[in-house]
Amino acid sequence: MNERQIIEYITAQAGPADGQLLKGIGDDCAVIRKDDQRVWLLTMDTLVESVHFNRAFHPPELLGRKAVSVNVSDIGAMGGKPVFVLLSAGMPHGFDETWFLAFVRGLTEACREYGCFIIGGDTVASPGGLTFTLTVIGEARADQVLYRSGARPGDSVWVSGPLGLAAAGLELLSRNIEPENRAFDPLREKHLNPPARVALGQELAASGRVHAMMDLSDGLATDLAHLCKQSGTGARLFAPDLPGLGMLAAAARRTGCDPLHWALSGGEDFELLFTASPEERSTLVEVAETCGLKIVPVGVIVAGAGVTLIQPEADGTQREIAISYQGFDHFRNGNGG
Ligand SMILES: [Mg+2]
Repeated sequence: MNERQIIEYITAQAGPADGQLLKGIGDDCAVIRKDDQRVWLLTMDTLVESVHFNRAFHPPELLGRKAVSVNVSDIGAMGGKPVFVLLSAGMPHGFDETWFLAFVRGLTEACREYGCFIIGGDTVASPGGLTFTLTVIGEARADQVLYRSGARPGDSVWVSGPLGLAAAGLELLSRNIEPENRAFDPLREKHLNPPARVALGQELAASGRVHAMMDLSDGLATDLAHLCKQSGTGARLFAPDLPGLGMLAAAARRTGCDPLHWALSGGEDFELLFTASPEERSTLVEVAETCGLKIVPVGVIVAGAGVTLIQPEADGTQREIAISYQGFDHFRNGNGG
């Protein structure tokens, strides 16, 4: 089974929920009614040693920060504010205490920065290496929550920043390529210590101009396919518009990798992906500027299904490539593309 089939099976078996649950499986967070005006947002993510991180090159403070970022990113992706955190830590016998204390320092520091607070959790023995699971609880105004399902044909598709940097950084780090080359630092940093666009998510939700939103964790090709499926639409992406390809070029040459593959399928970008009517362009750009970010339109939502990449060829023609779900799948080998 692949990841999608596993989730679909659990969804089918779980059956219908009661009226307090506004959204269950299938979005960045579960959404639960809190009171007349507000909702709780709940999300969980796990980092597993040798799958999601490698202690050989991942400093513990930065891994602690990343454990928080990857979770609060899902809260921001629905327009919410992270409030509470639960941590479950699985650790082998004789674990490195100095390493663990540094990890916790990074984790609590990031919690403070995002405005959330650790309220509990669990510690267990893990024979197979370190495992960290965070549950983050956020809140939002019920009338501002942004779901994946709101995209409409004609919408512009936006991303909040360059794509593929984390995948490139991971490639450089795992092969120890040019560790002294400062030009590659932004790529490595994006894998080791990715910022979550929580403030932008909240501002976009408050603007009332956005139709659908999610965060990019598994690569644009896969995540946009999820958004389209939930919205009952398709999407077309224009390859030259994808932001970050220039930043990837030198690393791609050095590693022999394809920058377009990184941008579409690399995963762990933790940028926001959202759609809005094309008339909102200047308003949205201004909203992002207040957060110090430069958002980029990369395509358009269309009637139908599936994600298509438009690739201009040297002879002036255009190639159309179906790329739905061509991203990172946790149950396939390698990076999936
Ligand atoms: Mg997400």
